[in-house]
This record gives sequence, structure tokens and C-alpha cells, in this order.
Amino acid sequence: MTVVVYPGSFDPVTNGHIDIIRRASALFDKLIVAVYDTPDKSIFFPLDERVEMITKAVADLPNVEVKPYTGLTVDFIRNVGSKIMIRGLRMNSDFEAEFEMAAMNKKLAPDVELVCFMASSQYQCLSSKLIKEVCRLGGCLEGLVPQHVATVLQEKFLQVLPKP
Ligand code: ADP
Repeated sequence: MTVVVYPGSFDPVTNGHIDIIRRASALFDKLIVAVYDTPDKSIFFPLDERVEMITKAVADLPNVEVKPYTGLTVDFIRNVGSKIMIRGLRMNSDFEAEFEMAAMNKKLAPDVELVCFMASSQYQCLSSKLIKEVCRLGGCLEGLVPQHVATVLQEKFLQVLPKP
């Protein structure tokens, strides 16, 4: 059985991430979406909320599991019995950072291989960061994130934004 791991911070999950999950889970026996506890960037949603939003979004995919993790991604991958990391690549923004991270991961864990999926054209310019910005400014999120994610985002921004 081939188990693959798709790690990320997913703050929050977008339709771009879900597209990668659907495409990768169709090719492998089991896909684990690994939600990184404390990434090296400021995080808007707590870990349990990020996990919950993804779990709801992939509920129709029986071979997909969502798990939180902390520490080195390659250690998590080995601990769940996998040797394959999945990542998504958008045209302009991702290659250099992914290349650098892949080189470091290869050094740390030569037995773990990276498989990259090219982002689908409609999601090339979609990022969690941009989604939060659009929501904060009151823009429409239709087609960019699942409906339940849009609802949670809108509620959250109503809580944190100062009342006029
Ligand atoms: P990071 O893991 O760097 O914190 P994310 O959690 O946002 O970033 O993304 C996890 C993975 O999904 C990364 O490989 C990222 O490049 C990829 N990804 C992010 N947004 C998209 C998108 N719109 N289409 C395809 N892949 C994406």
C-alpha cells in the first residue's frame, strides 16, 4: 500500500489545496494531509480549526486522512510509514522555496521522495494569505474556498475587526 503525505500549514485550506488532495488521492492508496502545528509564519487559525476545516472539505474521500503534526516533516512522514511527500507548485511563487526545502529534506531523509503537482490553472494565483486579505476587505470568496471555510473566515473577521 502506497501512503503519501501532503504537508502544509493550510491557514486556511483553499480550493487550490483541495484540488491537489483530490488529484493525488486518486493516484495513491492513501493520502495523509499533515497540518503543521507551528510554521515559521504568523498563523490566523489555531491548529484544531485548520484540521477541522480540511476534514470537512475532504469528507467524501475515503482514502484521505487529516492529521496534525509538530517537528520535522520528514520524521512525520517516516512515522506514518510513508516515503513520499506531496507538494503543490504554483507558476511563479513556489519553485525556489520548494527547491530549497526539498534539498534540505533530502539531506535529512534521503529515503523520502518529493512528488510535486502543478497547480491547476484556475488556482495558480490562489493562496491562503490572499484569501484572508480578500475576506478582511469584504470580498467574495465564492469558488476560492469551500463554503464552510468562507463562513468560518467571515465570522472570525467579524470578531477581530474593530466595530465602526
Ligand atoms: P506552506 O506549506 O508553505 O505553509 P500552504 O499550507 O499554503 O503552504 O500550502 C501547502 C502546499 O500546497 C504547498 O506545497 C503549496 O505550494 C501548495 N499550494 C498552496 N496553494 C496552492 C494552490 N492554489 N494550488 C496548488 N498548490 C497550492
